[in-house]
Amino acid sequence: MKKLTCHCGEIEAEINITGDFEKLVRCNCSICKRKGAIMSMVKNEDFKILKGKDKLKLYQFHSKIAKHFFCSNCGIYTHHNPRSNPAMTGFNVACIDDFDTFLLENVALNDGKNHPLDKK
Ligand SMILES: [Zn+2]
Repeated sequence: MKKLTCHCGEIEAEINITGDFEKLVRCNCSICKRKGAIMSMVKNEDFKILKGKDKLKLYQFHSKIAKHFFCSNCGIYTHHNPRSNPAMTGFNVACIDDFDTFLLENVALNDGKNHPLDKK
């Protein structure tokens, strides 16, 4: 079990995970490129908001399928439900206190810029 918090502490979430994160990625889509966050992913049922649900702000764009959440007080991106798989929750691993993203090397790149659902 890991605990995720935004910067100001209004948002707290619990991630049902034991051991290492499954996969760590950065993404080059238009929003992730701006956030610059390193993310991992769990099933929706393994990500539970403990506190501050009313402080979460939802941001959507383009196809409006993906849900991007951030704290309305401190502005920190906490988690999202991706368009490619809304049953999953992607989250900002830097929001986990005891996890040091600066020790990571060679984080995989998700090519969100060329989203499969945008191909005709
Ligand atoms: Zn906050």
